[in-house]
Parts: sequence; C-alpha cells; structure tokens
Amino acid sequence: MRFEISKVLDAIEGRVSTDPALARAVVDLAEVIRWQNLDGGRPANLLRLGMVIDALARQIGEDSVPVYAIVHRALLSDADLTSNERMVVRRWADDGLVEVLDQPGDRMLEVADLLGLPVLTRARLDGLVGRYPWVGQAGRVLAPVPGAGGPVFIAHVGGGQNPVGGNRSPVGMKLLSRQWHCPESGCALFGGGGGGGAFADLAGADRGPSEQPPPTLRTGAPTCPRHGARLSDAGPRPRTEVLAVRIGGLVRKRFLLTETEPVSVGRAPDVPGGVTLGQWLNDEARRWISRSHIRLELRVGEVVVTDTSTNGSGVRPGGSMAEPERVKLAPQQSRVLAEGDLIELYPGVHVGRAAELSSDATYTPNSVMAEAPTMAMRLPRP
Ligand SMILES: [Zn+2]
Repeated sequence: MRFEISKVLDAIEGRVSTDPALARAVVDLAEVIRWQNLDGGRPANLLRLGMVIDALARQIGEDSVPVYAIVHRALLSDADLTSNERMVVRRWADDGLVEVLDQPGDRMLEVADLLGLPVLTRARLDGLVGRYPWVGQAGRVLAPVPGAGGPVFIAHVGGGQNPVGGNRSPVGMKLLSRQWHCPESGCALFGGGGGGGAFADLAGADRGPSEQPPPTLRTGAPTCPRHGARLSDAGPRPRTEVLAVRIGGLVRKRFLLTETEPVSVGRAPDVPGGVTLGQWLNDEARRWISRSHIRLELRVGEVVVTDTSTNGSGVRPGGSMAEPERVKLAPQQSRVLAEGDLIELYPGVHVGRAAELSSDATYTPNSVMAEAPTMAMRLPRP
C-alpha cells in the first residue's frame, strides 16, 4: 500500500512546476494539505494536492495540468505529514519544482499577478480587489470544496467555476524577458543563470533559464524568493514557444520548445526531453506512430517540424481538417509551422502551438491519482 502511495506521489510530482510557461494555477501547499474535508482523512495529507490537480484538469478539460506551488519552509518539517511525504516535499524543494519560502506573505498573489494565473485558495481575498483588480474577475480566485466525484471549485469573489488565466502583468512580462542569477550557490530556482544549458546540466536538473520562475519584488528589486538575495541580470531570456499535443479531442500535454533544445515527439522517443504519447494511443495509432515521429526546433522564432518517422505525417494548414488541404510531410522532410498550423502524426493526434489548440472538452482527463486506492486517503499514519 505504501508503495502505491509512492507511485501516486510520483505522479503528482509530474504536476508541480514553477515554469511560468506551463503552470496553470497557483496554490499554497501548506493550505492545500490541510483541506481535511476534501476526503475526511488525517489533518495534513499531501495526496490532497493530487485531488486538487485532478479537479483543475477536469475543469480545464486537459490532461497533465501543472500547478505552481508555494511552500512555507515549516512544511518541510511538518509533523502532521508522514516522513515519506516530508521527504517528497524536500525533494521537490531541492529540485526547484516548488518554491520554498521563509515568509510566504502574499507571494501566491504576486505570482498570480505576474503570471496571470488563477489562485486556488479558500482564503477570502475580497479585500484585495483594490490592489489586484483581477481578484474580482470571474474564475481568477477559486476555492476547492468537496463534490460528488472529487473536489469542485466555487468562487468567493468574481463568480465563475472554471479556473481562468489572464494576461501576465506588464511587470511580469518585463521580469520574464530576462534571466536571473542568485548569488546563493546551488539555488534551485535561479542557479545557472547566464550559463545556458551547460550549467543547467551541471546542476543535475534539466531546468534551463527559460523555465525560471518570476523573481519576487517584495524588496523593490528582483529578489530570489527562496534566499532573499538580490538577483543579478544574466541577460535576455531565450525565446520559447509553448506547444501542445491533442489526442482524441483532448489536450494531453503542453511542452516548452527552446532555441537550444529540439524536442522529439512520438510513441516513446528515446532521447532526453522527448514527449511520449504511447499512453494515450489506441493500438492502431501505436502501430502507425514511430518511437520518435517528429522533431521540433525553434529557429529564430520559427517552429520547424521535421518528420523522423517511418510512415510520414501531415500538416493541417490553419488547423483545417478538410482532407484536400492536408499537406503531406514525408519522412525526413521539414516545414516551418505557420500560424494556426497543426501537425498530424495520425488522424486525431495533433501537435501545435498551445494557444491555438483547445480541448473539445467532451473527454475526461486521466487522473493523476489513478494509482491511488480510495482507501489510501484514509490510511492512518504509519
Ligand atoms: Zn536563490
């Protein structure tokens, strides 16, 4: 049973990210783990984060939806968590998957403001509309509450039940146009700034400068939220493009394309950073789609697709599904992706710019908790 819980925690780990391009909502982890009435279990439970991530995925109608988690440092030694859970949160902290703070203050709101993300919280934020006008917008502040099939969202402020993102604030755009370096050695959030991919490799993490979270401005200047240290400007942030995979009408995964790292997409690419589709494909699609079916590159701001498959692929210009308009992409052939274009690996399996792809929302996302037996939520602490 404990082994299965570990598997669930691993699945949840794949859904926590401080990457500003991929995170879809902000949460305060110390708050989430104590939403006891979500499952009626023990006072603090890390699996509640999984329940909330599932609710977010259901409501957005997408698989693989990451959340940006703010973690008070006290949580790393919170005696209400199991030792295994504390170990997992420490690993997330070490790897920079979550943001650890000595004084969280209103960092959750700052991140939501800078990145234009919805906030999942039960705290009443009504009083903050003056400072953050988006608090009053529909879908920007939602409280997860128990529902029949898992948590559902209700709004304290602004109405709406679907989490809705907004635009990054002008300050957020400015902060995210640069890469930052923290003087604290081994900083998981702002280490390796200015060094590019090589330094990221040395740090043992595959987080590049384009995945850095937004610095905090609580001191008035860009500061590391973890170390409170003033950050130095390490040059312009590399250009990126957020792409997405849609299979059977549902967006399954978003991923980042940078100018330094090509990304392979296929049934099971055997290269680092590859996007694996196998789990979402039926037998026929699995037979058709190669292990590495396409390679994507970002060259001077253009997305270039190269077919690396056995069977070839196609491009749907402007996203049109009309058969005569489909452009064939033979093995080894390349093409620049124009606005709205979708790459077709197989009928119903598409890759395109995330902003131009949406789910048709008639499918139910895969649960991050799929491995969790219902009773695991009620297990006493070992
Ligand atoms: Zn730092």
